[in-house]
Amino acid sequence: MTGVADRSGVTMVEAGGTAPQAQVGEHAPLTPDWTCGTCGALWPCEPKQDRLLTEYGADRAMLSVYLGACLAAAAADLHASGSTSLQDRFFGWLPRRSKRF
Ligand SMILES: [Zn+2]
Repeated sequence: MTGVADRSGVTMVEAGGTAPQAQVGEHAPLTPDWTCGTCGALWPCEPKQDRLLTEYGADRAMLSVYLGACLAAAAADLHASGSTSLQDRFFGWLPRRSKRF
């Protein structure tokens, strides 16, 4: 009832510290290590990145909101608040596109 549709198959981590439900094949993050529950890579892993881009499509703003929430939760879990590498990990993979709005 927050108005934010859960289109990723991952329970939003807005509660802070609440582990998302890991589902097989969903490439959901495992907290507090923030590794992928499916392939074991650092989350978001490449399959998850592809999935997010597909699921959110043109709605890049909503994707950024989602990743921002995940980044905040990961920073708290990993005690790496404000870490540049963590920001790069969560946002650095996004394709750069010129604004067309
Ligand atoms: Zn994965």
